[in-house]
Amino acid sequence: MALVVQKYGGTSVGDLDRIRHVARRVAQCVKQGDALVVVLSAMTGETDRLTQMARKITAQPSQREMDMLLSTGERVTIALLSMALQELGLSAQSFTGRQVGILTDDVHTRARIRSIDAERLKEALSKGVIPVVAGFQGINHRSDVTTLGRGGSDTTAVALAAALKADLCEIYTDVDGVYTTDPNIVSEAKQIQKISYEEMLEMASLGAKVLQTRSVEFAMKYRVPVCVRSSFTTQEGTLVTEEDNEMEQELVSGITYDKNQAKVTLVGVPDRPGVASTIFEAIAKENINVDMIIQNVGQAGLTDLSFTIPQTDAVQAKAVLNGLAKEVGLAEVLLAEQITKVSIVGVGMRSHTGVAAKTFSSLAREGINIMMISTSEIKISCVIEAKYTELAVRTLHTAFELGEA
Ligand code: ADP
Ligand code: ASP
Ligand code: MG
Repeated sequence: MALVVQKYGGTSVGDLDRIRHVARRVAQCVKQGDALVVVLSAMTGETDRLTQMARKITAQPSQREMDMLLSTGERVTIALLSMALQELGLSAQSFTGRQVGILTDDVHTRARIRSIDAERLKEALSKGVIPVVAGFQGINHRSDVTTLGRGGSDTTAVALAAALKADLCEIYTDVDGVYTTDPNIVSEAKQIQKISYEEMLEMASLGAKVLQTRSVEFAMKYRVPVCVRSSFTTQEGTLVTEEDNEMEQELVSGITYDKNQAKVTLVGVPDRPGVASTIFEAIAKENINVDMIIQNVGQAGLTDLSFTIPQTDAVQAKAVLNGLAKEVGLAEVLLAEQITKVSIVGVGMRSHTGVAAKTFSSLAREGINIMMISTSEIKISCVIEAKYTELAVRTLHTAFELGEA
């Protein structure tokens, strides 16, 4: 008997018919002899709807209250699915993050899981009860509700699979696997059958939202095999696992894009030791992740500094930097929010040259200007104007011949 953690995303539980459909799917797996733990997202659009309501009350809602609000979406679906399972004659019970012992740090709206005490889940499983767990949520040491960042139900599922030493974690979503790029943008995108943790981690962190980055980190650390598949078909999906010789050593395996980016430019930064550290320490204190950083050559003791951050943190970052302007002696803080980061990912880049040149020339041929560039062993990222996102992704996907033959 295998122990499987199944996570169903927002579209899969988007209305009552779909919840009933998930219940039938779960029932089928149980009938085949698997022991299941089910993790759910909120209904599709619900987390956005709640966020918009908060924004109508205040421009900068308290993060603690946001978590209290956002965690409600998942409570609705877990209760409804448990009822649907009971209706099919199965024994099922819903659990919040707290009830299954998910303890996180204190960083509201993007908390990290610190520990999981899975006793309650083990007890349910031993009694033949199907636990239906709210994804995306936990509690901090004060028992305040926290959430794990957008897409966080993936992380709940993989973390529970690790804690329970499950045989497999299945992520059910609205596409039938991980593709060479977002199949909703490029119809020729090809499904990948098997992908290494390392490549998947890179793709997720560069914007392929099919899996939350933290979920891939957990999978890699605890060696949890993850299968991404559709809840609407019986297709096998994509296996995320350890790199092996069977995997195609493609030069480039995928193209990703991330629209949730903003570019901050600090004009007239004094060119002396300590200034950069003051600036980035202030940003880090707000738990804002800085990605690409570019500093121009200084002139007359002044320089310009640009860096990218998540767009969701832009307003907060600007406020912090404006507060620093006098102390540090910055002339101006500029914010560009209409930008996208497009990236090319592939382990094959380690041993091949020419990927950068091909990337830049392909974008240039379409008249797409590159504002920032960053590279690592297995990726190249370019910041471009947001309006060119789809064109850039399609252009690169074609240039590297990733589509269906
Ligand atoms: P869920 O609600 O099930 O968690 P998400 O919307 O978070 O679903 O993730 C699935 C979506 O990820 C797909 O609909 C697709 O548009 C997007 N996506 C982006 N990049 C990729 C990729 N490389 N492969 C598959 N899906 C991708
Ligand atoms: N409901 C949350 C979100 O929309 C978590 C998730 O779906 O994974 O981001
Ligand atoms: Mg998701």
